[in-house]
Amino acid sequence: MMKCEVCGKSYKPKSLTRESNSNFRKCDECYYSKKAQTGLAKANRKSQTEFMRLERRIEKLEKANEMLETIIESMVNDQVNTYIQNTLKSAIKKATDDRLKTLQAQIISVNNKVVKIMGFELPKGGD
Ligand SMILES: [Zn+2]
Repeated sequence: MMKCEVCGKSYKPKSLTRESNSNFRKCDECYYSKKAQTGLAKANRKSQTEFMRLERRIEKLEKANEMLETIIESMVNDQVNTYIQNTLKSAIKKATDDRLKTLQAQIISVNNKVVKIMGFELPKGGD
């Protein structure tokens, strides 16, 4: 009979290997409960590490996502600015063209009137 150094109970050793590998003499109950505790602690540490790894990955992804959002935002802004500028340009050009056409039509009409009244054309610029 051996005495368990953990709980103090007397027990019959089942395995000599186990006895020689162990730092303390332990009964079956204490041996397996210690083993379970160690296994649990290991599993805990492992899941903790896994959890932290996942957290870092999520953080990284969030940062990447933020960067992407900023890039997309500035790209969209650029596109919108270009669109507005182009629209504005073509609107101004159209308005100017229309005004020029009206002015040209008015000049022609005045010129025609002069020809009708005076019987000759007004000298063109440069003559
Ligand atoms: Zn024990």
